[in-house]
Amino acid sequence: MQTDGRQVALVTGASRGIGAEIARQLATRGVRVAVHFHTNRTAADASLARLPGAGHATFAADLADGASAIRLWREVVAAFGAVDILVNNAGIYLNHPPLATDGAGWQRAWRETLGANLVGPANLSWAAAQSMSGCAERHGPLFGRGRIVNVSSRGAFRGEPDAPAYAASKAGLNALSQSLARALAPQRIYVYCLAPGWIETDMATAHLAGPEGDGIRAQHPLGRITRPDELANAAVYCALDAPPAMTGGIIDVNGASYLRT
Ligand code: NAD
Repeated sequence: MQTDGRQVALVTGASRGIGAEIARQLATRGVRVAVHFHTNRTAADASLARLPGAGHATFAADLADGASAIRLWREVVAAFGAVDILVNNAGIYLNHPPLATDGAGWQRAWRETLGANLVGPANLSWAAAQSMSGCAERHGPLFGRGRIVNVSSRGAFRGEPDAPAYAASKAGLNALSQSLARALAPQRIYVYCLAPGWIETDMATAHLAGPEGDGIRAQHPLGRITRPDELANAAVYCALDAPPAMTGGIIDVNGASYLRT
């Protein structure tokens, strides 16, 4: 497969939820999308089938495994010729309240959460930086040589008492984004980071349906939590339209449910 002048994006965790919606909105803008999935090929195929336009494809990888993440990047480059946009969206949220989790559960939560939410994006970003820095500015000077969009969380700032590894992984992702933005700006590779609050996806379903649901909704002056299409809209803005001067920015998308100073 060769590039045809369209931008190419790898969206991780794109078989469902926010990732599937980011993939759909990017495809609507004419971008060719590599739909990454972990294990659910059926869901990935359904997500792929919803994408407008031709030339998209699915790719499987466990992003908590370093070799798999690098292999994923190489497979997408081999299939598409080049990748212009990396969206690090995949992530997990594991409940592990410190006083209600045994030692083995605590170890597992930290290992799996940091692996998927922080080390995975770090490995893909490293691979992206190597390959994007060797590219010409194929899509104009405002786009630059490439873009990385990281999906972080409000929890990085607010804390997550029931999931400290999740909050730490997202705080790490914020710091990774800022560090890479500084390291890669001279190469005209831009790095943006989104910090959403609650979003209506499978990740949030159990929390919203449980006893804490009303409290979560009450945090939001909009009277509702964020929809996946709203977060995807922000991600597509960063991937295609945001000015280079916004590189290194961490952008809140939480409906004013949590305002940091
Ligand atoms: P989701 O659970 O619907 O989707 C997450 C995706 O990540 C899944 O497709 C899953 O397979 C993939 N994934 C998880 N671990 C992986 C691994 N080791 N290797 C490969 N893929 C893996 O969740 P979502 O709500 O769509 O979340 C998307 C992103 O948004 C996540 O990074 C999440 O932390 C963030 N976020 C979500 C909310 C929310 O309320 N839903 C709030 C803030 C931030």
